[in-house]
Amino acid sequence: MNASAGASASAVHGPLQDAQAQLAEAVEHLKCPPGLHEMLAMPRRELMVAVPLRRDDGSTAVYSGYRVQHNFSRGPAKGGLRFSTAVDLDEVRALAMWMTWKCALVDVPYGGAKGGVAIEPRDHSIGELERVTRRYTSEILPIIGPGTDVPAPDIGTDEQTMAWIMDTFSVAKGHTVPGVVTGKPIALGGSLGRASATSRGVAHVALMAMASRGLEPTTASAAVQGFGKVGRGAARLLAESGVTVRAISDVDGAIFAPDGIDITRLGAHVDREGTVVGFDGAQPLDPADLLTLDIDVLVPAAIEGVITEANAPHVRASIVVEGANGPTTQAADAILTDRGVLVVPDILANAGGVIVSYFEWVQSNQAYQWRESEVNERLEEKMTAAWHDVVDYAGAHGLTYRQAATSLAVRRVLEAHDLRGLYP
Ligand code: GLU
Repeated sequence: MNASAGASASAVHGPLQDAQAQLAEAVEHLKCPPGLHEMLAMPRRELMVAVPLRRDDGSTAVYSGYRVQHNFSRGPAKGGLRFSTAVDLDEVRALAMWMTWKCALVDVPYGGAKGGVAIEPRDHSIGELERVTRRYTSEILPIIGPGTDVPAPDIGTDEQTMAWIMDTFSVAKGHTVPGVVTGKPIALGGSLGRASATSRGVAHVALMAMASRGLEPTTASAAVQGFGKVGRGAARLLAESGVTVRAISDVDGAIFAPDGIDITRLGAHVDREGTVVGFDGAQPLDPADLLTLDIDVLVPAAIEGVITEANAPHVRASIVVEGANGPTTQAADAILTDRGVLVVPDILANAGGVIVSYFEWVQSNQAYQWRESEVNERLEEKMTAAWHDVVDYAGAHGLTYRQAATSLAVRRVLEAHDLRGLYP
């Protein structure tokens, strides 16, 4: 098998190499034939577009945009849209593959996709972001739709971005199509509970992981890397469960309070200042040190590749709950496993977002809104079921939770592929 199928010639180690290595392990465990491995290693469809932007000062800038659809065997492709200067084709390929496994693992009827634009949203006005979003949408319009590929928010995008995508798509179709995106504003058919869904799922599996290791929330401590869509809610929900959240970071810096950070007060500070830095209820911390603090639970909830070969030997947490996609490199993962650290993999830990995206898509397609309590209850049900599937499979086959989660997901995708058959 060409182990780098779907990868570019780049020798630099990045998320795609991690995703491919995880797939290779699952394929080996499942004794899957080389041809099927190759099929899963390669995205079904990739679209690269130039996104020209008329800037507020009248000049023109052009950004690279991508949409990668990794798999459709279990249903329409599904996955977020990321605005970040770190976006490139290989990163989007990795994130699309992880979406396929995530959707299969939590058993929502989707394949996997991801999109990105290589742009720093903080450098642009709201008007410029709207024009970039609408132009990107119109470039990828032929390959998205409620039954084809359904974008959602990711790093650097939010519910406003989804509203613009929905509107651009709807104008082109001549009628409103709410099911083309998820993570929409509630007023446009977004689901109650979607905004906090990923965080809720992260906190829920963190508590299940703690229980499995005999840790009581009220005597446990945590550090959270990232205070955005995932980290902020996760920190709040962990604190509400009694966990002492000692450290939090964002792109600008980190803070530390040995007796715990007041997340509500920190939230108000961040809403005012735009960063956790300078919060008067904690002391400054070197962001790199957050990962190796003496705490029970570490929640990386920012970007890929932050737990590496270099810092993994120094991680002191006994549980790592991956709120971000791909925060642990393959080499770091092996080190953590050897050291007995329980790693709850991204495709399980952060699946709450896409689970409620699925609920939103169902509600949008039926034009019927569920109660928030109903959404949260069904979310917890799905997360709990996936957790037990992974724990049981890992136990039965002597695998890590990541190997078990990926293997279960790959097996489900292959089962769907097998039942549909290969066309022609
Ligand atoms: N971007 C989120 C993720 O990585 C959500 C994807 C979705 O809801 O489609 O899981």
